[in-house]
Amino acid sequence: MCHERYVANDYRLCGHTVRLPDVFIECGKPNCRYSAYHNPNCQNCLQTCNQIRGYPEQYRPLINSLCPDCVARAAASRR
Ligand SMILES: [Zn+2]
Ligand SMILES: [Zn+2]
Ligand SMILES: [Zn+2]
Repeated sequence: MCHERYVANDYRLCGHTVRLPDVFIECGKPNCRYSAYHNPNCQNCLQTCNQIRGYPEQYRPLINSLCPDCVARAAASRR
């Protein structure tokens, strides 16, 4: 089922979280209203096709480093 994925990287060394753009995960089924394979001229769409989107999924990988901001700050203060 099609759904959104909310992506946020957790950086372990500084504790910051960086939100990334949401990703739309699609199911690829022709009988799903949100799929790229769905026929835009679909007749009787309400009867024949899936009309609901799945619950958004959270994706929060824990990354064992500093966030890009802190890396930039550390590089700037090193000079
Ligand atoms: Zn779908
Ligand atoms: Zn349809
Ligand atoms: Zn940071």
